[in-house]
Amino acid sequence: SLFAEPVQLTVLHVNDTHGHVWSFDKDIGGFARIATIVNDVKAEVEKKGGHVLFLHAGDVNTGVPESDQLDAIPDFVALHYMGADAMVLGNHEFDIPLNTLKMQQRYAGFPFLSANFVDKNLYPIFDPYIVKDFGDLKVGIIGLTTEQTTVLESLYLENNMFSSAYEALNDYMPVLKEKSDIQIVLSHLGYYSGNKPNLPVGYTTSNEIALNRNDIALIVDGHSHTLLENPEMINNTILTQSGEWGKYVGRVDMWIEDGRVIDWKAQQIPVNSQIKEDPFIKMIADMYYNMGAEKLNEKVGVTNVYLDGERNHVRSGETNLGHLIVDSMVWKTDSDFGFMNGGGIRASIDKGDISYRDILTVLPFGNTVYVMKLNGNTVKEVLDFAATIPDGQGAKLHVSGVTFEIVDGKANNIMINGEPLDINKVYNVATNNYLASGGDGYKMLKGLNGYDTGFVAADVLKEYIMHLGTIENSNIEKRIIVKN
Ligand code: ATP
Ligand code: ZN
Repeated sequence: SLFAEPVQLTVLHVNDTHGHVWSFDKDIGGFARIATIVNDVKAEVEKKGGHVLFLHAGDVNTGVPESDQLDAIPDFVALHYMGADAMVLGNHEFDIPLNTLKMQQRYAGFPFLSANFVDKNLYPIFDPYIVKDFGDLKVGIIGLTTEQTTVLESLYLENNMFSSAYEALNDYMPVLKEKSDIQIVLSHLGYYSGNKPNLPVGYTTSNEIALNRNDIALIVDGHSHTLLENPEMINNTILTQSGEWGKYVGRVDMWIEDGRVIDWKAQQIPVNSQIKEDPFIKMIADMYYNMGAEKLNEKVGVTNVYLDGERNHVRSGETNLGHLIVDSMVWKTDSDFGFMNGGGIRASIDKGDISYRDILTVLPFGNTVYVMKLNGNTVKEVLDFAATIPDGQGAKLHVSGVTFEIVDGKANNIMINGEPLDINKVYNVATNNYLASGGDGYKMLKGLNGYDTGFVAADVLKEYIMHLGTIENSNIEKRIIVKN
């Protein structure tokens, strides 16, 4: 192809949309606006003979009640009609059972990629990669999911696991290079340049891939919710990520000759009121919104105090909302005591009326309440582990019916309903299915004697608030005393 012109490939991308099909904060985001951007860019680029890909870098699931209650079908149906070409599985795609995820893919119609989500024989469960053939250009796209998913979302993995994303890339790149002219990594790994508290050494990051390989044209990343306003070229690889919630659509234009990017530019397009809404996608979004509105607007109770679910607060200590939630779990199951992870509390509730929507915003994961039979020794082990959790991590514990002191990273003076912990006794303990299955590092709970009550934690909280009627109690008498 001696006199061939370079081929233009434009990649549009979003990541971590987390249920944000509808615009929020008045005029930010919304899939109907994103659709307009996609359509306009397609028209512009294709007129010049170029090609456009629209990619989602993972975490479609979890975060907005209207989406959550319909298992993100609004999101996937909209993305289908927006012409999405592929997505990579994010960790939050495992907030739901594997069968639901497969159902979502049927609605979406586009491939869900992950080269490192594998069964026990290390065989990938979804497509590891795809090749998009534009005639004059074949684009290989490989999907990589953060290995953190094993720890963060261990609930619904069944017998499957996440192998090293870095090694999966090594394994698949040779085949992909044979089948395509250029290669793109669609990754839900995250961009972490410095030390990130929640990311222990050993997890693959997108910047690490860019640094260590020079045969990948582009990494479209997600997971860390990073807005790379000026996508970087690291060592021959363009690296981009578009923040979160569809506030921006990333656009990367590349000009390709003989499998090499000879020129490129990139930008982040703000999704705001300046962008008009695509009427068809708007119609789909509105239809789904109205389906659940009545149920979500239902008034559940009143609170005379601010119920604190602030991320920094629930991950560094106890709050009144944390107490209320664990109290509800113990109340409903009549357990001896209970505990849950602060990271499972995702929002606050303002003073005033409480709607069901408010509750689902606080507890979006669809967790169920577990009752476990734990002997005193295991209780001690759990609380000792909780005592080692540094501030800022989701594993921070909130409790009800138990008090203890943290001294030198150990749980001391453990009292169950005012009585000292008896290590020979077996207690009925309420928790969520996330911790019961060993999530957030509580590995000692995995496989222990317990049963899933099937009660959805959000509904239990709703019932408890209805039972209380009005929440007056602003007391946050400490249940966990940190002594050092
Ligand atoms: P991203 O949206 O990019 O994947 P994230 O929200 O998962 O990020 P963090 O905000 O750090 O990442 O939250 C992780 C914490 O969220 C976990 O440590 C855990 O406490 C909590 N969490 C995640 N999934 C669940 C779940 N299914 N049930 C209960 N808690 C969960
Ligand atoms: Zn993620």
